[in-house]
Amino acid sequence: MLNIQIEKTNQPKQKPEPEELVFGAVFTDHMFVMDYEISQGWHNPKIVPYQPITLEPSAMVFHYGQEMFEGMKAYKGVDGRVLLFRPEKNIERTNKTNDRICIPQIDEDDMLQAIKALVDIDKDWIPNAGGTALYIRPFIIATDPYLGVRPSNTYKFMVIACPVGAYYKEGINPVKIWVETEYVRAVPGGVGEAKTGGNYAASIKAQMKAKERGYTQVLWLDGVERKYVEEVGTMNVFFKINGEIITPELTGSILAGVTRNSVIELLNAWGERVVERRITIDEIYEAHKAGILEEVFGTGTAAVISPVGELNYRGDMITINNNEIGALSQKIYDTITGLQTGAIKDEFGWTVE
Ligand code: PMP
Repeated sequence: MLNIQIEKTNQPKQKPEPEELVFGAVFTDHMFVMDYEISQGWHNPKIVPYQPITLEPSAMVFHYGQEMFEGMKAYKGVDGRVLLFRPEKNIERTNKTNDRICIPQIDEDDMLQAIKALVDIDKDWIPNAGGTALYIRPFIIATDPYLGVRPSNTYKFMVIACPVGAYYKEGINPVKIWVETEYVRAVPGGVGEAKTGGNYAASIKAQMKAKERGYTQVLWLDGVERKYVEEVGTMNVFFKINGEIITPELTGSILAGVTRNSVIELLNAWGERVVERRITIDEIYEAHKAGILEEVFGTGTAAVISPVGELNYRGDMITINNNEIGALSQKIYDTITGLQTGAIKDEFGWTVE
């Protein structure tokens, strides 16, 4: 149990109007900070006014990218309660990422306490309007002032938060996706399954090129054979083919999404056929040709479900489900968002007040 020192702001900021909310641009009044040193472990937990931090230019995070981050949301429930969605999954993933990039483990209860404490102090920042939420960004950075390549001996764990608007302002629109054949996101044995900044830096170029070509995002293929589907942008991906739902199995180069896991559990509870296995881009195109590719959608915290309306693989363009949202995608979206806000009774035990 952390003994969190709290310093409240005496200059609360103006909160944005719900319709003005842009993702990740406005931050709440406070932030959580905790330090790590080998002799003391994680210590000095505090909540202070949101403000810049001071680091040495030689801080290791700036040079070799030893850092991790998480992304989750708090929702204003239908009855006014504040709900987190499966926070223990993000916390578990934090320690998996930490393990992969040699950041010390963080106590799971302490991390949940830190998140809850920040959300509680800034709960007036959680927007009320449908589809809005408070996005929570826990992260850890390596702070040793040192240019040798080794794990840092000191770290900062922080939590910041921002109110976010409805991801889909005019309803869920299927997106156009470019199947990426030049760049790869991750390889087996690499850090693809860790939530660390370098993965995202490595993905930006492909994303920019897809945008220039008029596509919203890329579909990542595996880094070895360049034929197995891995993820779509920063989301996991699902295919409904001839009544069966398929999602790429976690082979080490794919991030284990919390939404992905929730979709699988939901589908199982509904008695749907869902399989985790490797699937090639050719198999998807063949299914389309045979008229049995029913739905394609991405899953992630930001949008929950993002239907794919069009794929372009080496110039071969296919349209999925007439560029409309599929019945299954819609049902999953409605159910997960309903659970997150408490509009649907949570029989899974996924929400945490
Ligand atoms: N893949 C990547 C690469 C991501 O960054 C994310 C977002 N965290 C996801 C998948 C989806 O994960 P989640 O459902 O936990 O948001």
